[in-house]
Amino acid sequence: MNITTQLKEVLADLPEGVRLVAVSKFHPASAIQEAYDAGQRIFGESREQELSVKQPALPQDIEWHFIGHLQTNKVKYIAPYIAMIHAVDTFRLLAEIDKQAAKAGRVIPCLLEIHIAQEDSKYGFTFDSCQKMLLEEPWRSLQHIRIAGVMGMATNTDDSAEVQKEFAALKQFFDELKERFFADDPNFREISMGMSHDYLLAVAEGSTLVRVGSKIFGERIY
Ligand SMILES: *Cc1c(COP(=O)(O)O)cnc(C)c1O
Repeated sequence: MNITTQLKEVLADLPEGVRLVAVSKFHPASAIQEAYDAGQRIFGESREQELSVKQPALPQDIEWHFIGHLQTNKVKYIAPYIAMIHAVDTFRLLAEIDKQAAKAGRVIPCLLEIHIAQEDSKYGFTFDSCQKMLLEEPWRSLQHIRIAGVMGMATNTDDSAEVQKEFAALKQFFDELKERFFADDPNFREISMGMSHDYLLAVAEGSTLVRVGSKIFGERIY
């Protein structure tokens, strides 16, 4: 697997305005450095402990995105530097990010994770629970977070019609939220969807951030 070649191949697939999060979880710092040397600056990790080891060891202008499920008690470790948190699925987590961002003197862009796949998952808002949170919770008073959009993962299936339908539903939900809650907020603009096996479908349905790991770095060893 040649990381530079793979990276360029993925980038060539992305229209202007769509950014790549290179998902480097379970891959060593040397692999990240290789992609960095080829020009990549945004990297995605899903475990706080792993990220906390990599972040100090790699170039400081890397934009680290936290893409996995984040426990509230881990927020404090990443708040000083994290560039975006993709999978916020409770108001409680949003409030904790706000608190830790305030301590770090920062404003952290966050995405609301929406459950769009057919598989069961304990993570992610439903369309209804997300609207309910935005209606009922005092998120507008949080000064140190910015709700920057939505994030979702499609069903892991070869049925591309199903995957396309799920991505289209997330785009439609983003448009609804934009109109209802964020009409005057230019920061609400990201739709994080698309992984190695489905990012082309995601881009066709309006993704602004794709999260691609194994296609760039090779299969992960668990
Ligand atoms: C691991 C992961 C990815 C990347 O998956 P690949 O199939 O390796 O591209 C994207 N998003 C999330 C949330 C992940 O956990």
